[in-house]
Amino acid sequence: MFKESFYNFYIPKNDSILYFNGITCSNFIVTKSEHQKLQELFEDAIDFEINYPSIFNQFVKWGFLFDDSTDEIDTIRFRHRMATIDSKDYSLVINAALKEDNTDQKKCNCHNNPVGHMSDETVNKVINHILYMVNKKRITSLLIIWAGSDPLEHLEKVIYPISQFAQSICNKNSIKFKNHINTSLSDINISIIPKLIEIELNNIQISYNNTNTTHDDIALQKEIKNKIPTLYETLDDPTINLDIKGAISDNTKALIDGIQQKYTNRLVINYGKSAQVIQNIESKKRQQKKLRTQCRPKDIFSVKPHYKCNSDRMYHASINFDGKVYSCINRDYSDMYVFGEVNEHGEIKYNNEKLKQKLSKPPFENPMCLACKYLPMCLGPCSQKIMETHKDALESACILNYVDIDPEAFILNLYEEKLKQNNNV
Ligand code: SF4
Repeated sequence: MFKESFYNFYIPKNDSILYFNGITCSNFIVTKSEHQKLQELFEDAIDFEINYPSIFNQFVKWGFLFDDSTDEIDTIRFRHRMATIDSKDYSLVINAALKEDNTDQKKCNCHNNPVGHMSDETVNKVINHILYMVNKKRITSLLIIWAGSDPLEHLEKVIYPISQFAQSICNKNSIKFKNHINTSLSDINISIIPKLIEIELNNIQISYNNTNTTHDDIALQKEIKNKIPTLYETLDDPTINLDIKGAISDNTKALIDGIQQKYTNRLVINYGKSAQVIQNIESKKRQQKKLRTQCRPKDIFSVKPHYKCNSDRMYHASINFDGKVYSCINRDYSDMYVFGEVNEHGEIKYNNEKLKQKLSKPPFENPMCLACKYLPMCLGPCSQKIMETHKDALESACILNYVDIDPEAFILNLYEEKLKQNNNV
């Protein structure tokens, strides 16, 4: 017997209603009277099927009606399992170094964090690890993410040799290779660009913490003007994400908009939670609206890749400069978060108890998330958060406690994006 999906959303949009199904992500607009008629038809699915078979079948295909001998949550579980356990796309975070200022930013100050940079010996272990993952684990792609403190200071001795090796072994084995770095604008020196080109380091996440002063804002403009266009002109098909936290002026905003337009929107801007525009109240409001409907929803909700965070996956690891392995990079680097250690043969010796805790079931396998309508887009808290949360305090781990956006805003944004794509905007 067919019944209405638990994950149907009917969201008012101007004079119409947006239909969205969380499992299939089908979305379209109907008029209010069509909506009323459809709701009547959904109430009696048998009648609907008999009287309007082709429309009925279309709504089944779109997921708005489903055969109740199947379980919708199983679809979510299955996709999650395929994406987290079966996928051999390997994401490897590497900290070339950690400094005090980096560890100070971490949430917990009560543990001793290691501070230092990667030795030649650990560089060799990491190279062996990549070889091991290619030859023994048969990974299907490799994404390296350079993180930690000021990674570009270690371009010559750490980033370059490891990237060069990864690039060559991936090429030899027809494995897709992607090289990404989290850095700051001030660390990008134009003279290093030839090296970045050589190792295909063309995915760049730039963070900028503005201290809300005019002086800082002018400095930001100068950095953007001098560096971002050069990166676009020289690197091969770069993707640049600019994370701005703090206030920016209208002039800076206009400068960023201009660069975005020139480089056909390949410059992605994320304004931090506290982002606002100095002086101009109206543009401040616009900025905050954009934040609600465009930036944050993409970080929190998604329709793919069917997992919450890279650290929820089996084929993900974060190797610190000392060879210790972590799952999550949003905690400190104290011993309590160590998941394992890479040995000289390049194999990670995992703490199986921790691995079991992380991977034995999806993070959403709890009464709160299983009963939630937003589950297909949210997929619950990340595995790290679930491991840290006592089952009696589950509610405190709900994503909705931490974000200032509605899941409905995400759904509306998806529809707008689809329209833009259809119209080739
Ligand atoms: S974390 Fe909250 S919003 Fe997300 S699925 Fe669980 S209950 Fe729903």
